[in-house]
Amino acid sequence: MAARRAAGDAKHAIPEQRLDDERIIVLALADSVLLTPRFLQSVFGLKRAIRSTLRARFAKSVLDRRPALIVLLYHAVDPSPPQYLRDLGVVTHPHAFEDHLLWAKSCFELVSLSEGIRRLRSGTLTKTCLALTFDDGLKSVADHALPVLIRHGIPAALFVNHASLTGQRCWIYDVAQLESEGRKEALEEVFGTSCPGLFSSYLRHQAPADVLARRSGLTDLSSSLNGNRVEYINHEELAQLLESPLMELGNHSLDHPRFSRLDANEQCRQINGNAEALAGFAGYQRFFALPFGRPADWNMDTVQACAAARHEFVSACGGVNFARTASIDIRRVPCDGVGGGQLMDHITRRGIGI
Ligand SMILES: [Zn+2]
Repeated sequence: MAARRAAGDAKHAIPEQRLDDERIIVLALADSVLLTPRFLQSVFGLKRAIRSTLRARFAKSVLDRRPALIVLLYHAVDPSPPQYLRDLGVVTHPHAFEDHLLWAKSCFELVSLSEGIRRLRSGTLTKTCLALTFDDGLKSVADHALPVLIRHGIPAALFVNHASLTGQRCWIYDVAQLESEGRKEALEEVFGTSCPGLFSSYLRHQAPADVLARRSGLTDLSSSLNGNRVEYINHEELAQLLESPLMELGNHSLDHPRFSRLDANEQCRQINGNAEALAGFAGYQRFFALPFGRPADWNMDTVQACAAARHEFVSACGGVNFARTASIDIRRVPCDGVGGGQLMDHITRRGIGI
């Protein structure tokens, strides 16, 4: 009996070599299916997608129950921007931008900034509205974003510096370009300082008070830049854009300084001087968008200068503006570089903090 079973077992036994081969095949399959970076990535990607969808749905239900004014902030909208603009994180692809618009239009009422603020301040904001804004008056916006807005009948506000209208330049873009072209030493010479990381980042976050005083040195340096320079909307182009009733114009200071580093008088001069220069354009609204826009970029002198000039104070530190609990500043959500399908998730995280 035992001998017969042994014979049967031997008959059905898997040869040692074949066992090894199958084990190798199974292990190889498991490795290729389960453990490849691509598979793991798709598992984590799926988890992320589910989490962000649930978060976005929750945020939408919050905004449906509790009316708010959502204000989005963009800078450049460009299909092929220079690398230094990507590094600064201030560009959105036109396709992603159009996706943002279509999504926003399907979820909220799109209003002009003035209408949104009017409803917010007068207590008549009965449902969540969304307004669009663009800072720095960049030409790519006129080329790639405004035609889309006009095609869809969507209003927007442009926040402009008088300096850029008159052929001067926003120093931060030139600094970023000079840095990307390997001119860091020359920049350090102009600004009389050195930093271990990105010079443009250092200047943005810890801008010394005399950055603007050194502008002539920067202008000399910038004049040697080769192509790829940021272009601004000029005086005539702005006047033409503002012929559309969909477009509004706001104040972004004379030449984009960091307000928290200025004394009270200079802050007033920056706001009042730019207001005077822009007031002649159709669609000018008494809104002041703080340059750089973060909490560390303003102080109480800024608030007082705005109030004295009778301008609404607009920041860029994230957050949405809930009816009845609106703060002193109109908060905006920076949306540069956000992917086409990610806007709600982005607003949820940067605007509502969920
Ligand atoms: Zn700006």
